[in-house]
Amino acid sequence: MSSRLILLGPPGAGKGTQAQRLTEQRGLPQLSTGDMLRAAVKAGTEIGREAEAIMKRGDLVPDSVVVSIIGERIDQPDAKNGFVLDGFPRNPAQAAALDEMLQQRGLSLDHVIEMKVDDSALIERITGRFTCAKCGTGYHDRFKPTKVPGVCDSCGSTEFVRRPDDKAETVKSRLDVYHAQTAPLLPYYRAKGILHEVDGMAEMDEVTRQIGNVLDGRG
Ligand code: ADP
Ligand code: ADP
Ligand code: ZN
Repeated sequence: MSSRLILLGPPGAGKGTQAQRLTEQRGLPQLSTGDMLRAAVKAGTEIGREAEAIMKRGDLVPDSVVVSIIGERIDQPDAKNGFVLDGFPRNPAQAAALDEMLQQRGLSLDHVIEMKVDDSALIERITGRFTCAKCGTGYHDRFKPTKVPGVCDSCGSTEFVRRPDDKAETVKSRLDVYHAQTAPLLPYYRAKGILHEVDGMAEMDEVTRQIGNVLDGRG
């Protein structure tokens, strides 16, 4: 069954974690604007140079930038039969641009999944987050350590990275941005009848199960 879905939730809610599982379990590619922007920063492209300082502050990069990256990405062959949007859209203008993009291609959005997590839990989630430098698998110091200390479970690499914006000070601004700009998308998608809530405070496997229920029409 093809699925086009959005994982919507505050920073640290578990969007990336669950998107990676949807890729493994259902072959749906993860379309993460955050990952794409970080790759642009690392590569030193024009977009990367423009985005770097904005991301460090925890603000949103301009809509035109993310809309055009997503527009190109959904036309890639691996996204033909569905995809998981992770971190996009993040404000009403981006949501409108997404609607238009899909409409032009004769496609529709199947589900928007709200991952509900209390703000108080997010700081610990974000400050403990790290990622394999080689394959991008996500980990957490306390909630998802590597099985062998210092070695990636997926690829065996011993190099890991932490994001410069995953500091307690920046997390606060990112949460403010979420509440002010992204949370208004919830009533927008609820009105379209495609919004589903999952309990993002639950353990990772339980969250995966709840998302699976939505995709399989049981949620
Ligand atoms: P997001 O993409 O929404 O910012 P992540 O998927 O990167 O969030 O998760 C943030 C951190 O919290 C990561 O270190 C991840 O391992 C951890 N995490 C994700 N889901 C859970 C969960 N259900 N319970 C505890 N920790 C989690
Ligand atoms: P998280 O899931 O932890 O919130 P992301 O990796 O999605 O973080 O985003 C990191 C940063 O990249 C954001 O704080 C923002 O600066 C930028 N960014 C990512 N996606 C978007 C978007 N759709 N619109 C504007 N800025 C974005
Ligand atoms: Zn790895």
